[in-house]
Amino acid sequence: MNTILNIIIGIIKKLFKQENVENLILNDFREKDVEGITPGSSFEKRFTPNFRYGELALDVEARRFIHQYQCNTALFLCKFLEKLRISEIVNKSAIRITSGYRTPEINSKTPNASTTSEHLYNEPDKGGVDIFISGVDMDKVYEWLDNNWPYSLGDGRHLGFIHIGIRPGRPRVRWTYS
Ligand SMILES: [Zn+2]
Repeated sequence: MNTILNIIIGIIKKLFKQENVENLILNDFREKDVEGITPGSSFEKRFTPNFRYGELALDVEARRFIHQYQCNTALFLCKFLEKLRISEIVNKSAIRITSGYRTPEINSKTPNASTTSEHLYNEPDKGGVDIFISGVDMDKVYEWLDNNWPYSLGDGRHLGFIHIGIRPGRPRVRWTYS
């Protein structure tokens, strides 16, 4: 009898926890709910439930953030990635970040990268990520992003990624990579 009761209590606890995570996403991750990440944090720490600090740095120490404002911009982007993740189109498939933060040195060695790239995170409110989602129609993902992300969007579908970013003043910008 006790065993059955414990199982039921376990299920209720699990459901409650699940709901809390979803609420957290829908409530835009109120500041007190998220882990405070600083440049020196472990790469295993999560900005949001599904995105680790290390993913923004491709788990390379040389790509670690150096300023707190860079972490804040990354948090903003990760919050949005959580919304993309639970969209009908993506339906919780894994979103792979193929490029996050680049130091000026790394950026200068990246083929076709702009010298003012959002990947530099070199001022407050400037940053970007390139993403790819396996097994999902990237045309539909782009359409969803175009409708739901009012800031920077770079169309690299033909190259295997979509760039999502922001720049100071948060203008709406759209471009295609040649
Ligand atoms: Zn990019």
